[in-house]
Amino acid sequence: MITAVNRPAALHIDVAAIRENTVNAKKHLKPGQKLFCVVKANAYGHGAVALAPVMEEAGADGFCVAMLDEGLELRRAQVVKPILVLGLQPAAEAALAAANDISLPVSSLEWLKEAEQVLRKEGLQLKIHLAIDSGMGRIGFSEDEDFKRVNDYLKDNDAFFVEGMFTHFASADSADHAYFDYQVKRFKHLQSLLTVKPKWIHVDNTAASLFEKDIDSDLVRFGIGLYGLNPSSAPGSADLEPAFELKPAMSFVSELTYVKQIHKGYGVGYGSTHIAEGDEWIGTVPVGYADGWIRKFQGFKVKVGDVYCPIVGRVCMDQFMVLLPKEMPAGTKVELISKDPAAPNSLRKAADWLDTIHYEVACLFNDRLARVYDNK
Ligand SMILES: *Cc1c(COP(=O)(O)O)cnc(C)c1O
Repeated sequence: MITAVNRPAALHIDVAAIRENTVNAKKHLKPGQKLFCVVKANAYGHGAVALAPVMEEAGADGFCVAMLDEGLELRRAQVVKPILVLGLQPAAEAALAAANDISLPVSSLEWLKEAEQVLRKEGLQLKIHLAIDSGMGRIGFSEDEDFKRVNDYLKDNDAFFVEGMFTHFASADSADHAYFDYQVKRFKHLQSLLTVKPKWIHVDNTAASLFEKDIDSDLVRFGIGLYGLNPSSAPGSADLEPAFELKPAMSFVSELTYVKQIHKGYGVGYGSTHIAEGDEWIGTVPVGYADGWIRKFQGFKVKVGDVYCPIVGRVCMDQFMVLLPKEMPAGTKVELISKDPAAPNSLRKAADWLDTIHYEVACLFNDRLARVYDNK
Protein backbone atom coordinates (compact mmCIF):
# COMPACT_ATOMS: atom_id res chain seq x y z
CA MET A 1 0.00 0.00 0.00
CA ILE A 2 1.37 3.41 -0.94
CA THR A 3 1.67 5.94 1.85
CA ALA A 4 -0.07 9.11 0.71
CA VAL A 5 2.38 11.84 1.65
CA ASN A 6 0.98 14.47 -0.70
CA ARG A 7 -2.41 14.88 0.90
CA PRO A 8 -3.46 16.89 3.91
CA ALA A 9 -4.09 13.96 6.25
CA ALA A 10 -1.59 12.30 8.60
CA LEU A 11 -1.15 10.67 11.95
CA HIS A 12 1.06 12.79 14.17
CA ILE A 13 3.15 10.97 16.74
CA ASP A 14 4.51 12.90 19.71
CA VAL A 15 7.98 11.40 20.09
CA ALA A 16 8.62 13.19 23.40
CA ALA A 17 5.50 11.54 24.86
CA ILE A 18 6.71 8.07 23.79
CA ARG A 19 10.12 8.83 25.29
CA GLU A 20 8.59 9.99 28.56
CA ASN A 21 6.28 6.97 28.83
CA THR A 22 9.25 4.67 28.19
CA VAL A 23 11.42 6.40 30.79
CA ASN A 24 8.58 6.21 33.33
CA ALA A 25 7.90 2.56 32.53
CA LYS A 26 11.54 1.80 33.14
CA LYS A 27 11.63 3.77 36.41
CA HIS A 28 8.59 1.86 37.59
CA LEU A 29 10.30 -1.54 37.26
CA LYS A 30 11.50 -3.50 40.24
CA PRO A 31 15.26 -3.57 40.79
CA GLY A 32 16.95 -5.68 38.12
CA GLN A 33 13.85 -6.05 35.95
CA LYS A 34 14.25 -5.51 32.22
CA LEU A 35 11.97 -3.46 30.01
CA PHE A 36 10.89 -5.16 26.80
CA CYS A 37 8.97 -2.71 24.64
CA VAL A 38 6.11 -4.30 22.72
CA VAL A 39 6.14 -2.86 19.20
CA LYS A 40 3.96 -5.41 17.44
CA ALA A 41 1.54 -4.27 14.73
CA ASN A 42 3.83 -1.39 13.78
CA ALA A 43 4.02 -0.21 17.40
CA TYR A 44 0.23 -0.29 17.78
CA GLY A 45 -0.02 1.82 14.63
CA HIS A 46 2.52 4.42 15.83
CA GLY A 47 5.48 3.20 13.73
CA ALA A 48 7.89 0.53 14.99
CA VAL A 49 10.97 1.41 12.96
CA ALA A 50 10.74 5.10 13.84
CA LEU A 51 10.12 4.53 17.52
CA ALA A 52 12.34 1.56 18.42
CA PRO A 53 15.48 3.76 18.54
CA VAL A 54 13.62 6.30 20.72
CA MET A 55 12.64 3.54 23.12
CA GLU A 56 16.16 2.11 23.08
CA GLU A 57 17.56 5.47 24.05
CA ALA A 58 14.92 5.82 26.77
CA GLY A 59 15.81 2.50 28.37
CA ALA A 60 14.37 -0.42 26.40
CA ASP A 61 16.33 -3.62 27.06
CA GLY A 62 14.62 -5.50 24.25
CA PHE A 63 11.56 -5.64 22.02
CA CYS A 64 8.54 -7.88 21.57
CA VAL A 65 6.77 -8.33 18.26
CA ALA A 66 3.86 -10.52 17.22
CA MET A 67 5.44 -12.29 14.27
CA LEU A 68 8.80 -13.05 12.72
CA ASP A 69 8.49 -10.52 9.90
CA GLU A 70 8.07 -7.71 12.40
CA GLY A 71 11.28 -8.81 14.11
CA LEU A 72 13.11 -8.97 10.78
CA GLU A 73 11.93 -5.45 10.00
CA LEU A 74 13.55 -4.23 13.24
CA ARG A 75 16.80 -6.08 12.49
CA ARG A 76 16.89 -4.50 9.02
CA ALA A 77 16.51 -1.15 10.79
CA GLN A 78 19.70 -1.89 12.78
CA VAL A 79 18.00 -2.77 16.07
CA VAL A 80 20.51 -4.96 17.92
CA LYS A 81 18.77 -5.48 21.27
CA PRO A 82 17.01 -8.81 21.95
CA ILE A 83 13.79 -9.38 20.00
CA LEU A 84 11.13 -11.81 21.15
CA VAL A 85 8.27 -12.96 18.94
CA LEU A 86 5.10 -13.46 20.99
CA GLY A 87 3.03 -15.54 18.56
CA LEU A 88 3.73 -19.06 17.29
CA GLN A 89 5.69 -19.26 14.04
CA PRO A 90 6.02 -22.17 11.62
CA ALA A 91 8.81 -24.50 12.81
CA ALA A 92 10.28 -24.27 9.30
CA GLU A 93 11.16 -20.62 10.06
CA ALA A 94 13.30 -21.54 13.08
CA ALA A 95 16.55 -21.13 11.11
CA LEU A 96 15.54 -17.71 9.76
CA ALA A 97 14.79 -16.59 13.31
CA ALA A 98 18.04 -18.03 14.68
CA ALA A 99 20.14 -16.51 11.89
CA ASN A 100 18.73 -13.09 12.82
CA ASP A 101 19.06 -13.65 16.56
CA ILE A 102 15.30 -13.48 17.09
CA SER A 103 13.76 -15.51 19.93
CA LEU A 104 10.63 -17.59 19.36
CA PRO A 105 7.95 -18.91 21.70
CA VAL A 106 7.35 -22.65 22.01
CA SER A 107 4.04 -24.32 22.70
CA SER A 108 4.57 -28.01 21.85
CA LEU A 109 7.13 -30.80 21.71
CA GLU A 110 6.27 -31.51 18.07
CA TRP A 111 7.25 -27.98 17.14
CA LEU A 112 10.62 -28.38 18.89
CA LYS A 113 11.34 -31.64 17.06
CA GLU A 114 10.57 -30.13 13.69
CA ALA A 115 12.54 -26.97 14.46
CA GLU A 116 15.52 -29.03 15.67
CA GLN A 117 15.86 -30.71 12.26
CA VAL A 118 15.87 -27.35 10.51
CA LEU A 119 18.39 -25.91 12.97
CA ARG A 120 20.76 -28.90 12.81
CA LYS A 121 20.86 -28.66 9.03
CA GLU A 122 22.08 -25.07 9.29
CA GLY A 123 24.18 -25.57 12.41
CA LEU A 124 22.22 -22.88 14.26
CA GLN A 125 20.98 -22.48 17.82
CA LEU A 126 17.58 -20.90 18.47
CA LYS A 127 16.67 -18.87 21.54
CA ILE A 128 13.29 -20.02 22.81
CA HIS A 129 10.72 -18.91 25.37
CA LEU A 130 8.45 -21.60 26.80
CA ALA A 131 4.89 -20.32 26.60
CA ILE A 132 2.60 -21.32 29.44
CA ASP A 133 -1.16 -21.23 29.09
CA SER A 134 -2.11 -20.47 32.67
CA GLY A 135 -5.64 -19.42 31.75
CA MET A 136 -5.56 -17.21 28.66
CA GLY A 137 -6.56 -20.16 26.48
CA ARG A 138 -4.42 -18.98 23.58
CA ILE A 139 -0.98 -20.58 23.26
CA GLY A 140 1.30 -22.43 25.63
CA PHE A 141 1.68 -25.59 27.69
CA SER A 142 -1.02 -26.28 30.20
CA GLU A 143 -0.63 -29.99 30.99
CA ASP A 144 2.01 -31.22 33.46
CA GLU A 145 2.93 -34.28 31.38
CA ASP A 146 3.50 -32.31 28.16
CA PHE A 147 5.63 -29.82 30.00
CA LYS A 148 7.74 -32.51 31.67
CA ARG A 149 8.38 -34.16 28.30
CA VAL A 150 9.54 -30.84 26.88
CA ASN A 151 11.77 -30.29 29.88
CA ASP A 152 13.42 -33.68 29.27
CA TYR A 153 13.76 -33.00 25.56
CA LEU A 154 15.53 -29.70 26.18
CA LYS A 155 18.04 -31.08 28.71
CA ASP A 156 21.48 -30.95 27.06
CA ASN A 157 19.94 -30.10 23.69
CA ASP A 158 22.26 -27.57 22.09
CA ALA A 159 19.90 -26.76 19.22
CA PHE A 160 18.04 -24.56 21.69
CA PHE A 161 18.87 -21.98 24.32
CA VAL A 162 16.05 -21.66 26.84
CA GLU A 163 16.00 -17.91 27.15
CA GLY A 164 12.59 -17.57 28.74
CA MET A 165 9.43 -18.96 30.24
CA PHE A 166 6.35 -16.79 30.21
CA THR A 167 2.62 -16.53 30.51
CA HIS A 168 0.03 -13.91 29.61
CA PHE A 169 -2.75 -12.70 31.89
CA ALA A 170 -6.35 -12.55 30.75
CA SER A 171 -7.53 -10.03 33.33
CA ALA A 172 -4.61 -7.96 34.62
CA ASP A 173 -6.60 -4.89 33.52
CA SER A 174 -9.49 -5.59 35.88
CA ALA A 175 -9.95 -4.80 39.56
CA ASP A 176 -10.91 -8.41 40.23
CA HIS A 177 -7.95 -10.50 41.42
CA ALA A 178 -9.47 -13.99 41.55
CA TYR A 179 -8.70 -15.17 38.00
CA PHE A 180 -5.33 -13.44 38.07
CA ASP A 181 -4.42 -15.31 41.26
CA TYR A 182 -5.54 -18.57 39.66
CA GLN A 183 -3.25 -17.91 36.67
CA VAL A 184 -0.31 -17.13 38.95
CA LYS A 185 -0.86 -20.41 40.77
CA ARG A 186 -0.95 -22.39 37.51
CA PHE A 187 2.18 -20.67 36.23
CA LYS A 188 4.12 -21.27 39.44
CA HIS A 189 3.10 -24.90 39.43
CA LEU A 190 4.38 -25.48 35.90
CA GLN A 191 7.53 -23.53 36.73
CA SER A 192 8.16 -25.93 39.63
CA LEU A 193 8.25 -28.87 37.19
CA LEU A 194 11.12 -27.35 35.24
CA THR A 195 14.70 -28.49 35.82
CA VAL A 196 15.99 -26.60 32.79
CA LYS A 197 16.49 -23.04 34.06
CA PRO A 198 15.28 -20.29 31.71
CA LYS A 199 17.29 -17.07 31.74
CA TRP A 200 14.20 -14.88 32.08
CA ILE A 201 10.82 -15.57 33.69
CA HIS A 202 8.22 -13.08 32.52
CA VAL A 203 4.55 -12.47 33.06
CA ASP A 204 3.73 -8.75 33.02
CA ASN A 205 2.03 -6.78 30.30
CA THR A 206 1.37 -3.05 30.85
CA ALA A 207 -1.64 -3.69 33.08
CA ALA A 208 0.13 -6.16 35.36
CA SER A 209 3.01 -3.74 35.73
CA LEU A 210 0.91 -0.62 36.28
CA PHE A 211 -1.72 -2.09 38.55
CA GLU A 212 0.78 -3.95 40.72
CA LYS A 213 -0.58 -7.31 39.69
CA ASP A 214 2.60 -9.19 39.13
CA ILE A 215 4.87 -11.75 40.61
CA ASP A 216 8.64 -11.96 40.75
CA SER A 217 9.79 -11.78 37.19
CA ASP A 218 12.85 -10.79 35.21
CA LEU A 219 11.30 -8.66 32.54
CA VAL A 220 8.15 -6.74 31.73
CA ARG A 221 6.49 -6.81 28.30
CA PHE A 222 5.28 -3.24 28.23
CA GLY A 223 3.00 -2.35 25.31
CA ILE A 224 -0.01 -0.02 25.33
CA GLY A 225 1.38 2.16 28.14
CA LEU A 226 4.32 3.21 25.93
CA TYR A 227 1.77 4.84 23.67
CA GLY A 228 0.26 6.65 26.64
CA LEU A 229 -2.92 4.62 26.69
CA ASN A 230 -4.46 3.08 29.78
CA PRO A 231 -4.88 -0.69 29.41
CA SER A 232 -7.94 -0.81 31.64
CA SER A 233 -10.18 1.09 29.24
CA ALA A 234 -13.20 -1.10 28.55
CA PRO A 235 -16.05 0.67 26.73
CA GLY A 236 -18.23 2.52 29.19
CA SER A 237 -16.25 1.64 32.33
CA ALA A 238 -13.94 3.84 34.39
CA ASP A 239 -10.20 3.39 34.03
CA LEU A 240 -8.03 2.02 36.82
CA GLU A 241 -5.52 4.57 38.10
CA PRO A 242 -2.09 3.89 36.56
CA ALA A 243 1.04 4.12 38.70
CA PHE A 244 2.28 7.09 36.67
CA GLU A 245 0.81 9.54 34.18
CA LEU A 246 0.45 8.12 30.68
CA LYS A 247 0.85 10.58 27.81
CA PRO A 248 -0.99 9.67 24.61
CA ALA A 249 1.18 10.22 21.55
CA MET A 250 -1.12 9.82 18.56
CA SER A 251 -3.23 12.49 16.97
CA PHE A 252 -4.86 12.42 13.56
CA VAL A 253 -4.98 15.65 11.60
CA SER A 254 -6.47 16.64 8.27
CA GLU A 255 -8.27 19.64 6.81
CA LEU A 256 -11.40 20.61 4.93
CA THR A 257 -10.84 20.16 1.20
CA TYR A 258 -14.21 21.54 0.18
CA VAL A 259 -17.01 23.51 1.80
CA LYS A 260 -20.47 24.22 0.46
CA GLN A 261 -23.94 25.19 1.53
CA ILE A 262 -26.82 22.79 0.99
CA HIS A 263 -30.54 23.41 1.36
CA LYS A 264 -33.57 21.72 2.94
CA GLY A 265 -34.15 18.21 1.58
CA TYR A 266 -30.64 17.82 0.13
CA GLY A 267 -28.90 14.52 0.99
CA VAL A 268 -25.29 13.83 2.04
CA GLY A 269 -23.31 10.66 1.22
CA TYR A 270 -24.22 7.16 0.02
CA GLY A 271 -27.80 6.27 0.87
CA SER A 272 -28.46 9.90 1.86
CA THR A 273 -28.48 9.01 5.56
CA HIS A 274 -28.31 12.73 6.28
CA ILE A 275 -30.93 15.06 4.82
CA ALA A 276 -30.59 18.81 5.38
CA GLU A 277 -33.34 20.25 7.56
CA GLY A 278 -32.69 23.74 6.26
CA ASP A 279 -29.67 25.64 4.98
CA GLU A 280 -26.54 23.83 6.17
CA TRP A 281 -22.80 24.20 5.70
CA ILE A 282 -21.10 20.90 4.85
CA GLY A 283 -17.34 20.33 4.86
CA THR A 284 -15.51 17.44 3.18
CA VAL A 285 -12.48 15.73 4.78
CA PRO A 286 -10.14 13.59 2.61
CA VAL A 287 -10.08 10.53 4.90
CA GLY A 288 -12.19 7.39 4.64
CA TYR A 289 -12.59 3.77 5.59
CA ALA A 290 -9.68 2.81 3.32
CA ASP A 291 -7.48 4.60 5.87
CA GLY A 292 -9.11 2.70 8.73
CA TRP A 293 -11.52 5.56 9.47
CA ILE A 294 -14.44 3.15 9.38
CA ARG A 295 -18.11 3.74 8.60
CA LYS A 296 -19.06 3.38 12.25
CA PHE A 297 -17.53 6.84 12.80
CA GLN A 298 -20.69 8.34 11.32
CA GLY A 299 -22.04 10.67 14.03
CA PHE A 300 -18.70 10.98 15.89
CA LYS A 301 -17.59 14.57 16.44
CA VAL A 302 -14.25 15.77 15.09
CA LYS A 303 -12.74 19.18 15.81
CA VAL A 304 -12.94 21.59 12.89
CA GLY A 305 -11.05 24.76 13.69
CA ASP A 306 -12.07 24.95 17.34
CA VAL A 307 -15.59 23.51 17.10
CA TYR A 308 -16.61 19.87 17.45
CA CYS A 309 -18.70 18.92 14.41
CA PRO A 310 -20.58 15.68 13.78
CA ILE A 311 -19.75 13.45 10.84
CA VAL A 312 -22.87 13.37 8.68
CA GLY A 313 -23.72 10.87 5.99
CA ARG A 314 -21.89 7.59 5.59
CA VAL A 315 -18.09 7.63 5.69
CA CYS A 316 -16.92 6.91 2.12
CA MET A 317 -13.81 4.96 1.13
CA ASP A 318 -11.62 8.07 0.92
CA GLN A 319 -13.67 11.01 2.20
CA PHE A 320 -16.26 11.96 4.78
CA MET A 321 -18.45 14.96 5.45
CA VAL A 322 -19.03 17.08 8.55
CA LEU A 323 -21.85 19.43 9.47
CA LEU A 324 -20.38 22.87 10.14
CA PRO A 325 -22.00 25.50 12.39
CA LYS A 326 -21.26 28.21 9.80
CA GLU A 327 -19.28 28.79 6.65
CA MET A 328 -15.63 27.88 7.17
CA PRO A 329 -12.86 28.13 4.58
CA ALA A 330 -11.45 25.12 2.78
CA GLY A 331 -8.10 24.40 4.40
CA THR A 332 -9.49 24.72 7.94
CA LYS A 333 -7.70 22.22 10.20
CA VAL A 334 -9.65 19.11 11.20
CA GLU A 335 -8.48 17.12 14.20
CA LEU A 336 -10.01 13.65 13.92
CA ILE A 337 -8.21 12.30 17.00
CA SER A 338 -6.69 14.39 19.78
CA LYS A 339 -3.77 13.26 21.91
CA ASP A 340 -5.32 15.12 24.85
CA PRO A 341 -6.87 12.29 26.90
CA ALA A 342 -9.58 14.66 28.18
CA ALA A 343 -10.72 15.73 24.68
CA PRO A 344 -14.05 14.44 23.32
CA ASN A 345 -12.14 13.10 20.30
CA SER A 346 -9.38 11.27 22.22
CA LEU A 347 -8.51 7.77 21.05
CA ARG A 348 -10.28 6.47 24.14
CA LYS A 349 -13.48 8.39 23.27
CA ALA A 350 -13.25 7.15 19.68
CA ALA A 351 -13.00 3.59 21.02
CA ASP A 352 -16.07 4.16 23.21
CA TRP A 353 -17.93 5.46 20.15
CA LEU A 354 -17.00 2.32 18.19
CA ASP A 355 -17.78 0.12 21.21
CA THR A 356 -14.26 -1.24 21.32
CA ILE A 357 -10.86 -0.56 22.93
CA HIS A 358 -8.28 2.02 21.85
CA TYR A 359 -5.79 -0.79 21.05
CA GLU A 360 -8.07 -1.69 18.15
CA VAL A 361 -8.64 1.87 16.97
CA ALA A 362 -4.90 2.66 16.87
CA CYS A 363 -4.36 -0.52 14.82
CA LEU A 364 -7.14 0.37 12.37
CA PHE A 365 -5.15 3.28 10.94
CA ASN A 366 -3.20 1.74 8.10
CA ASP A 367 -0.19 2.44 5.93
CA ARG A 368 -1.96 4.74 3.47
CA LEU A 369 -1.74 7.33 6.24
CA ALA A 370 1.57 9.09 6.60
CA ARG A 371 3.02 9.17 10.11
CA VAL A 372 4.66 12.43 11.06
CA TYR A 373 7.00 12.45 14.05
CA ASP A 374 6.78 15.64 16.13
CA ASN A 375 8.68 16.84 19.23
CA LYS A 376 11.76 14.78 18.48
C1 LIG B 1 0.44 -7.67 23.30
C2 LIG B 1 1.09 -8.43 24.39
C3 LIG B 1 1.70 -7.77 25.46
C4 LIG B 1 1.58 -6.27 25.68
O1 LIG B 1 0.31 -5.98 26.17
P1 LIG B 1 -0.10 -4.49 26.60
O2 LIG B 1 -1.45 -4.65 27.19
O3 LIG B 1 -0.14 -3.69 25.35
O4 LIG B 1 0.93 -4.03 27.54
C5 LIG B 1 2.40 -8.51 26.39
N1 LIG B 1 2.49 -9.85 26.28
C6 LIG B 1 1.91 -10.54 25.28
C7 LIG B 1 2.04 -12.01 25.22
C8 LIG B 1 1.18 -9.86 24.31
O5 LIG B 1 0.58 -10.53 23.32
